[in-house]
Amino acid sequence: MTREKSIKASSEAAKYIPGGVNSPVRALRAVGETPLFIDHAKGVTITDIDGNSYTDFCLSWGVFIAGHANEHVTQAVGEAIARGTSYGIPTELETALAKRVSQLIPSMEQVRFVNSGTEAVMSAIRLARGYTQRNYILKFDGCYHGHADHLLVAAGSGVATYGRSGSAGVPDDFVRYTLVAPFNDKEAVRELFCQKGSDIAAVIVEPVPANMGVVPEREQFLQFLRDITREYGSLLLFDEVITGFRLTLGGAQQYYGIEPDLTTIGKIVGGGFPAAAFGGRRDIMQLLAPDGPVYQAGTLSGNPVAMTAGLATLEVLSEPGVYDALNAKAERFIHRLQEALAPKGVVINHVGNMFTPYFTGGKSPRNFSDVKQSNLDAFARFWRYMLHNGVYLSPSQFESNFISIQHTEELLEHIVELAKKY
Ligand SMILES: *Cc1c(COP(=O)(O)O)cnc(C)c1O
Repeated sequence: MTREKSIKASSEAAKYIPGGVNSPVRALRAVGETPLFIDHAKGVTITDIDGNSYTDFCLSWGVFIAGHANEHVTQAVGEAIARGTSYGIPTELETALAKRVSQLIPSMEQVRFVNSGTEAVMSAIRLARGYTQRNYILKFDGCYHGHADHLLVAAGSGVATYGRSGSAGVPDDFVRYTLVAPFNDKEAVRELFCQKGSDIAAVIVEPVPANMGVVPEREQFLQFLRDITREYGSLLLFDEVITGFRLTLGGAQQYYGIEPDLTTIGKIVGGGFPAAAFGGRRDIMQLLAPDGPVYQAGTLSGNPVAMTAGLATLEVLSEPGVYDALNAKAERFIHRLQEALAPKGVVINHVGNMFTPYFTGGKSPRNFSDVKQSNLDAFARFWRYMLHNGVYLSPSQFESNFISIQHTEELLEHIVELAKKY
């Protein structure tokens, strides 16, 4: 397999685009590769500009649960584009998608659309602060909520601590109100609430953390967060930018049976276009401008093409039995893959159809400091082996892989065979 054209495209890109990419992980540095440049994609296959094809388990970071270039979606989008691509004036499409989201995720009584997950979370936190008239937010070490200043916070090694910015360009004062605790650590959360509880506006959490690799909750950690936020009058914000419509039609909140006050969704809901949303209890959402004092806006928000793609994607996913079939297929595959890779010291964490193989000698990580024990060189070697055999896994140890309704059993069995030969 030659990658000559991708390599040339990459050095040309680097002249005009920092690092040659518009989002850092695409540079593939964590796995010791140069970027792929993609020509086209269909179903679960992506094809690069050198003509190499790969089975995709990244799926644009989980967006394409219904497969790339899904015909139902592309047809609807084609028709939408012909009617004009943005007006800056409302359309009924926005209401239709908001209504559908609200039906499927009932805690999202009202919904506002934005253009990215980053924007959704940033706006939801502003709203939580406006509603509670409190300052602090509490997040978890290893959870990613987009790149807004006050969310780019690294925690000290596994210890609950005050936030320190994880990026240059973010003054320490901007993260002063961001508290950080290890995921799955009830004691650390309880202690932060003891100290600051009356000034904590919201706890924000990925209900299935996927941005440190998949790390499932343990011992009803999410229910604990629901209880303690109620006790202190703080809001619970589920960041479902990945999990919204991923595990079930009702998101991780339906999967775990927990109702947050606010929810952010993204990725799948845009059907491959830049759309995301935040929503929640009506009495909270009504504080947004123009009804209320919390300002939030967007030139392309609720874009008609993106709304159409989201609606069409949800139509595909609303067919009866889609998630039962998807999750059953995923369980079988992940179990087989785990068996194949166990001799290499790999443990696979998964929830439903999201999974991450860790090179931790068989120990399943329960928080970010556990994840950091993984042998990153071993992960990178495995990733490159899979790539050279036509499989594109999410290109970092700290990411999730995703299964689509279009991955066939035969294809998945082929992947298991490949893994056995590793
Ligand atoms: C991807 C992601 C975001 C950020 O979304 P963007 O569209 O990349 O800005 C936020 N939260 C979670 C959980 C995500 O996975």
